[in-house]
Amino acid sequence: MSPNPMPPEKTSHILVLGMGGTIAGLASNPGKDPLSYKAGELGIEALLEKIQEDIPGELKLVSRQVANINSRNLTEPLLSLLGQTVMESLANTMVRGIVITHGTDTMEETGVFLQLTCGKYAQNLGKRIIITGAMLPANAPEADGPSNLLDAIRWASTPLDNCPGGVYGVMAGRACLAMDLSKRHATALNAPLQASPSSSAGLINPSWLFGVKAVQGAWSEDLPIPKGEEWPWVEILTSHAGSRPETIARWFGGGVEGLVLAGSGIGGFHDAWLTPLGEAAKQGIALVRTSRTGGGLTYPDIPEKDLAGCMASGSLSAPRARIALQLAINAAKQANLVGKSLTWQDFFARIAVLPLIG
Ligand code: ASP
Repeated sequence: MSPNPMPPEKTSHILVLGMGGTIAGLASNPGKDPLSYKAGELGIEALLEKIQEDIPGELKLVSRQVANINSRNLTEPLLSLLGQTVMESLANTMVRGIVITHGTDTMEETGVFLQLTCGKYAQNLGKRIIITGAMLPANAPEADGPSNLLDAIRWASTPLDNCPGGVYGVMAGRACLAMDLSKRHATALNAPLQASPSSSAGLINPSWLFGVKAVQGAWSEDLPIPKGEEWPWVEILTSHAGSRPETIARWFGGGVEGLVLAGSGIGGFHDAWLTPLGEAAKQGIALVRTSRTGGGLTYPDIPEKDLAGCMASGSLSAPRARIALQLAINAAKQANLVGKSLTWQDFFARIAVLPLIG
């Protein structure tokens, strides 16, 4: 195995894209304090060197560093760059599958972004994109990055009859659809899969696979990847005891195009928001309702009738609903430019009905 076989374009290979994160992080005193570290310190080639002996000799890997950041600092232009890199790489007949090493903090956003922009294309081509990362830095005695990276490479390269093409996440020996990644624990080794209906990485669970196929069957067309400067400004606001109307009203006239409302319970929000949200809708600000609980579904017109134009997020958490709303607003703008009168709601409705794997 060599991370950069020459020339890569002429050899069938797995492409490994490095984005940074803890998997590429280094602690200053790893034996004593592995959680005090800097993310995004090692390059992707160095990560592959660590697992070189475990890669089957016939499997060619090509690596590319897209970024090397702490993913809490992920930007929208960087998502665009990653999405474009993935689309171009999928189109390359020499690329069998793609692995992405990524920080766990915002895997949730990247997972849903790739599903909604590249998921159908990957599925149609029968290629898998696998996102992985680590909770411990690369020089920690119990570092989880090497085994996660190996699992991801195995998943990206295993025969298709095990599992269809598409976008997945792999951590701590388990796998899920990338759009189900959701970090709901600060330190657990499987933190990004805490709220996910996940399968075992080595053994495909038939009911999980059935769920994967149901989601893929419902996702008929990828959305356009916004160019760096095209991403609409969308904020997440959380309803809580003592919520104030000003929390909504302060966004008027400042360029915000959408608000994701992380409501309490089943997605209801504080009555103090009712009047300013009505005004927001009149001003053309897109509104999506979700739940701050971290699980379950948000349904239309429950617990009360929705404000005109406001949409329920289905199974999307607030960070996922935000990416979905941004992509839906952008898709509507692109459609309008070519004379199609479609709204963000038309696009968001296709996303919010994606089934939840139970
Ligand atoms: N803050 C890190 C990051 O998201 C955490 C991790 O990778 O686990 O880059």
